[in-house]
Amino acid sequence: MQVHIELKKVVDDSYDITIDKLPKIYFDTKVAVVTNPTVSALHLDYLLSNISAKELHVVTLKDGEEYKNQESIDAILDSLFEHRFNRKSMLIAFGGGVIGDMTGFAASIYQRGIDFIQIPTTLLSQVDASVGGKTGMNNKYGKNLVGAFHQPKAVYIDPSFLTTLPKREFAAGVAEIVKMAVTFNKEFFEFLESADLSDAKVLQDVIKQAVETKANVVAEDEKERGLRAALNYGHTFGHVIENETKYKEFLHGEAVAIGMVMANETAVKMNLMSEKEALRVKALLEKYDLPTHYEISDVNTFYETFFLDKKSSDSAITFILPLGIGDVVITDKVDRGTVMCVLNKFGK
Ligand code: NAD
Ligand code: MG
Repeated sequence: MQVHIELKKVVDDSYDITIDKLPKIYFDTKVAVVTNPTVSALHLDYLLSNISAKELHVVTLKDGEEYKNQESIDAILDSLFEHRFNRKSMLIAFGGGVIGDMTGFAASIYQRGIDFIQIPTTLLSQVDASVGGKTGMNNKYGKNLVGAFHQPKAVYIDPSFLTTLPKREFAAGVAEIVKMAVTFNKEFFEFLESADLSDAKVLQDVIKQAVETKANVVAEDEKERGLRAALNYGHTFGHVIENETKYKEFLHGEAVAIGMVMANETAVKMNLMSEKEALRVKALLEKYDLPTHYEISDVNTFYETFFLDKKSSDSAITFILPLGIGDVVITDKVDRGTVMCVLNKFGK
């Protein structure tokens, strides 16, 4: 005997991303803003002056990747239960990617899923984390290992929040922008080479182009079964660097910057990319004071650490290698000798 359940996708998950001064937003439901003390001290008054809701609550979590955990998720959920939020209630993520990922995850599980909105305040979260519906938290086994795909109802990107962002955090966001340009958009890359991001209009345009690039990829491959994996360019090497330095020495975007240089070296070695193009990418990263070198103390250990990455299947490492600037290949067919040769260039 067999019963078949026919599930047709009837929900429309599409949403708009607004890149402009924050508009007035009205809700006829209960709303909880999730934020942290850093962002709240700088920008919460401004946010609240633009929001009107039936009831408004603020949940303040501790600031830091080390708090992207179950305890913080429980703190959000507890607050929602205490204030009797129902399935029509709304969450607003107000902060960087850490706050965005956790707010989205809490929204995805509270009473089996409620709506949420992203108002990202770091460059990285404006161009990357707030777009695409990946939500989650870390646990003792690793980063982002628990989570859900849960798309926001809207994303409001106000670049003026970035005026208070530390320079290093800003540059870390630029690294993810460069990543999107190298993988998918040569004109965007060329635009970045001559762009002055201290000009507000230029910055707004760059954010828009990065978001468009990511949005197109997500629309094509929401659940990362193919193309979306290309956004892990620089991350295969970057994750190992973060792991070796125990997440203390580099910001994620900085590790990705070095990772991109390593991926480029691999691509050059395999004749997929010219040396000249690899140098152009490096020069663009250096323009934003991003690191492009990491001294590997033991190349064998470095290589073994690739296999701890959840994005690698047991036997093969997936590499994202540029085919010049503006195109990539996703491959698990890079032989150990080639990789070791690249790693040795960064070795002692
Ligand atoms: P973050 O959220 O830790 O923010 C960095 C620091 O900047 C924090 O101390 C924060 O309080 C502070 N800050 C935020 N806005 C500020 C402002 N306007 N002025 C001054 N300080 C401000 O880090 P992040 O780089 O924004 O995000 C990293 C996280 O995003 C990671 O947890 C990563 O896993 C996640 N991420 C998710 C996706 C996704 O697709 N969901 C993509 C990329 C990254
Ligand atoms: Mg990243």
